[in-house]
Amino acid sequence: MSQQTTIRKLAELVNAPVEKLLEQLAEAGMAFDGPDQVVTSIEKMKLLGFLKRAHGKGDKPAEDAAAPKKITLNRRKVQELTVGGGKTRSTVAVEVRQKRTYFKAGEMEAPPVSDEREDALRKLEESRQRNLTEQQKLAEDDKRRADEVAERKRLEEAAAAEKIVAVAVAEVEAREETTKPKPGHHGAPKPAPRAEAPRGEDRGTPKHKTRGSHAMVAGVEDDDSASRFAGQLHLSATDRARRSTARGKPKPKRQAEQARSGGGAHGFSRPTAPIVREIAIGDAITVADLAQKLALKGGDVVKTLFKMGVMATITQTIDHDTAVLVAEELGHTAVRAGGDDAEIELLAHAEEVQGDRTARPPVVTIMGHVDHGKTSLLDYIRRTKVASGEAGGITQHIGAYHVETDKGVISFLDTPGHAAFTQMRARGAKLTDIVILVVAADDGVMPQTIEAVQHAKAAKVPLIIAINKIDKSDADPSQVKNGLLAHDVVAEEFGGDTQFVEVSAKTGQGVDALLDAVLLQAEVLELTAVTDARATGVVIESSLDRGRGPVATVLVQQGTLKKGDYLVCGVQYGRVRALFDETGSQVPEAGPSIPVQVLGLSGVPDAGDDFVVVDDERLAKEVAQQRDIKRRESRMVAVPGNRMEDIMAQMGQQGEGQLALNLVIKADVQGSVQALREALTALSTDAIRINVIGSGVGGITESDANSAVTSKATIIGFNVRADATARRVVESNGVDLRYFSIIYDVIDQVKQVASGILGVEIREEIIGTAEVRDVFRSSKFGAVAGCMVVEGVVKRHKPIRVLRDSVVVFEGELESLRRFKENVDEVRNGTECGIGVKRYDDVKPGDQIECFERIEVQRTL
Ligand code: GDP
Repeated sequence: MSQQTTIRKLAELVNAPVEKLLEQLAEAGMAFDGPDQVVTSIEKMKLLGFLKRAHGKGDKPAEDAAAPKKITLNRRKVQELTVGGGKTRSTVAVEVRQKRTYFKAGEMEAPPVSDEREDALRKLEESRQRNLTEQQKLAEDDKRRADEVAERKRLEEAAAAEKIVAVAVAEVEAREETTKPKPGHHGAPKPAPRAEAPRGEDRGTPKHKTRGSHAMVAGVEDDDSASRFAGQLHLSATDRARRSTARGKPKPKRQAEQARSGGGAHGFSRPTAPIVREIAIGDAITVADLAQKLALKGGDVVKTLFKMGVMATITQTIDHDTAVLVAEELGHTAVRAGGDDAEIELLAHAEEVQGDRTARPPVVTIMGHVDHGKTSLLDYIRRTKVASGEAGGITQHIGAYHVETDKGVISFLDTPGHAAFTQMRARGAKLTDIVILVVAADDGVMPQTIEAVQHAKAAKVPLIIAINKIDKSDADPSQVKNGLLAHDVVAEEFGGDTQFVEVSAKTGQGVDALLDAVLLQAEVLELTAVTDARATGVVIESSLDRGRGPVATVLVQQGTLKKGDYLVCGVQYGRVRALFDETGSQVPEAGPSIPVQVLGLSGVPDAGDDFVVVDDERLAKEVAQQRDIKRRESRMVAVPGNRMEDIMAQMGQQGEGQLALNLVIKADVQGSVQALREALTALSTDAIRINVIGSGVGGITESDANSAVTSKATIIGFNVRADATARRVVESNGVDLRYFSIIYDVIDQVKQVASGILGVEIREEIIGTAEVRDVFRSSKFGAVAGCMVVEGVVKRHKPIRVLRDSVVVFEGELESLRRFKENVDEVRNGTECGIGVKRYDDVKPGDQIECFERIEVQRTL
């Protein structure tokens, strides 16, 4: 502040009389002469401090009894008085001095009192003191009581918590004793013995329990408990106990509460009844499916598995036994699912309808060697015999067709070749009543002719031989007859029962006679079916049509399929929306042996699947779903064996009668096929019969693989390999497929199986395959094959074979193995390389070079 402050000025500022200020300054130890003297800021501070102190003391009288308890203000007032009158009148200045002392309210010292009054005051004071003491005492009592209550409460809670732990421990122990699973046992409380426990003194429960806490923990049954835990009844009591303790030690109130209401299964006189589910489990089940059956979350099942020491994810498949253990661990029971419940219902359903059996048309399959005229014959018959629709005889290929002749109806399966036939058989479907075996008169009996004979015989289906191309000049029907005689197909003229018909698919000659022969054979077979019943049959072909959805050609075997029918078809189901025949015309129905195209299925069924018409959609859907689950399960479970080892295992068992080892033999040349057939069949003993159910020259085809599946045969590939489709069938069906290159090895191995001797088996393991993409010739290296390794690894020092069309054309060693002009020891899958084959210059693009090693395997059963 630049302007200097005088006392007068300060008095104005603080709104106090100058005198008083002077006085206060004097009291604060600062003497001033008059109101115009300047007050320094230090002096102001000093004054302020003094005044604060003066007031502050007043605030705390008890602290300083000597401090003044009053403020005294002196006031001096000058008045002018007029005295006398007239000329004597004079003015006199009169100064009035006032002094006032102010006491602060409530702190005023007691005014001087008399003795009597003093006495009264003392008594009052005494009484007040007594009251005070009394009050203090009461307060102390209250506090003590409160402490007691708190302590009691604390003890009770601790007891309850300990009790929960004790129950949990007891449960775990009880469960450990009984977990070694007994079917149907529930992991939940063992009520009877445990119910006595609380009153029984120790049992690991705390001693200091009061009656109250006892009642609390031992638990009066709480009606709420069931409903409170209803949502988690699937948890065993242990789990509940664990859950309640796992959240951290005694969380007093809540836990005690839980112990009372549900967690303390220990004290229940009657346990809450859990929902025990009985579930059906097949050979395998995914964790997710199991959880669904148990009405649990997948995670709970995973946890249970984990506790049992099995690490599994939700999508993983567990086997039947593990699934049963899990179900029982969770307090449910499990039965083995036949998966047949709906199926049985379906059967009952299908059997409900019985009717008169009447003659039905035969179903024919045409087989034969390539180029002998199967397709031509099928086409000719269709072209000339199928009752064509309005559109000028345009027929569509739906996998089958039927012809109407004067003498009767015949249905043809329109897929020539053996694959369809064997595939159907492998699926267990017996569709074909008669096989027409086409043999070209100019070519005679060929490998696939023989194969067809074998297939038909295995399926016990009669043959009719169509000697085709009879129009040709070099046609020689007798060559055909004689050729087949060697395979036990004997013409009537030779005293047999097989009809031979000479035909020409080109000119149509003999075709009617062939159809007559078929109908004659059908008569002999006395083929019958119930017409007036719900339809059943087999899927011949199926596809997904963009406009029409899933389309299936089915062959009705029994009953009549009608538009509007509900049906289950393999793992699909649906309602027949429309039916079409082979001419593309809509038909209202199809009877026995009639092929028909079906629209309205939920999905595309597989060829070979059966179909059944049912009353309602529910059953159709149920069966389809159950089949789907079963099919998925069976895919996951190892296919039971038709392996040589299984035969050996069976040989060890007594009382089995004669066993059979079925073989399919494929070799590179006819000579090897014959040699193997004879040598292996001759190994038959009293204990085991060796049947060659199929044989032929060339690579192993899908049809070979399918017939091996059907007859549970081992496939022997002698210098030949399986093609990709055959390999798929082999893999998915667990067919025993073995490759050999030495006849002696084949004989030795089969001999060992036949005699049941365990020994060392030399196995060839193919370690890698390379495909020849290009062949370069250089004067220095000769032929070098530019290859891509497509499987495994090709090693420089291992033996190799060159394969052409699945047949071995050379066996030997590698001359060189290079990558980017560098010699290497091995080349892996997916890598290009240059291969030079020692002493073999004839490698061609498209060939395969397979690298193998021979390993000794000790046989085990
Ligand atoms: P697939 O392989 O058994 O189905 O035989 P195809 O039906 O394809 O016939 C093969 C060849 O033989 C074709 O060129 C046909 O034209 C011919 N072909 C079929 N049947 C006859 C016939 O009866 N006479 C004559 N000359 N040729 C025929």
